[in-house]
Amino acid sequence: MEFRFSFRRYSLAFRQPVRTSRGQWPLREGLYVRVERPDGTVGIGEAAPVPAFGSETVAEAEAWCRSVGDRLGDEALSGVPRNLRSLRNALAFAVGGAADLPRHASLGVAALLPAGRAALADAPPRADAGFRVFKWKVGVGAADDEMALLDDLIGALPAGSRFRLDANGAWDRRTAEKWLDRASGRPVEFVEQPVAPGSKGADDCLAGLAADYPTPIALDESIADEEAVGRWLDRGWRGYFVVKPALVGEVRAVLGRLAKAHARVVFSSALETGVGAQAALRLAFAWPGKAVSLGFGVWPLFSDARFDGPAAAPFLRMEDVNRINPEALWSAAS
Ligand code: MG
Repeated sequence: MEFRFSFRRYSLAFRQPVRTSRGQWPLREGLYVRVERPDGTVGIGEAAPVPAFGSETVAEAEAWCRSVGDRLGDEALSGVPRNLRSLRNALAFAVGGAADLPRHASLGVAALLPAGRAALADAPPRADAGFRVFKWKVGVGAADDEMALLDDLIGALPAGSRFRLDANGAWDRRTAEKWLDRASGRPVEFVEQPVAPGSKGADDCLAGLAADYPTPIALDESIADEEAVGRWLDRGWRGYFVVKPALVGEVRAVLGRLAKAHARVVFSSALETGVGAQAALRLAFAWPGKAVSLGFGVWPLFSDARFDGPAAAPFLRMEDVNRINPEALWSAAS
């Protein structure tokens, strides 16, 4: 099939610069692709790369779009370079195919807490709003201070609250062991990426920690590409897989492998706009495995609220996802 093809690049200020381990991230840059089929129907997809997470840059995605011109055929579609993962994702959703049937009417959402002591002030109002799963960034301050803060947090929140501790690979093995020791017997749903991927022996270290402690471990940075998901499945990983659908080129194929293995999957935001979020969340609602609270408690996120997905609430319903109008965001990006 041949499509009429166009794309628009966007550059959107976050309401507040996002704090990352690499410093401040003030602007979300990405692009929308739009295809028009011979019958006049339209599909829109979003490429929201995060180069720090191993994806392409927006400039690389844009250069490919420019090279195509205004017609997109099967040959061009099958020839998108593998490393342009966000772009391949965007094109797959724009071009479409069979819709994924939702299997959940609503899904829980994890509240995002700020790192450090600020979480203590932030968490109780979220609990009042109904959140019971809290994601807290750790590995930012000293481990002993953060471990004491975790107990303060547990004490400040209703019984039944659970925590996701995301270290973003900040710990060494010894610190990870101390933390996992502390987490057992406490309401910690999982510890996310305790040690960094890529360092020597990191995979064995993660597998060893998962075997030695009862608290589950979630892989995030360790599964930045499709091949890595396969490697961890082959290894028999029984912890969680944090999947940011927007960053996976062959996302349906990867989710198919995870489903077949009965893997535990946490669907998470890559801080994309509503277009990419709708695509990602539809996959989450279609996930055949056990429902795990979504890592999509990120909105409002942009200074220009037209680009936001549904505001963070303890539960997200399928109709909230369907209400996002990609055409409106495409127009707003002009
Ligand atoms: Mg993470």
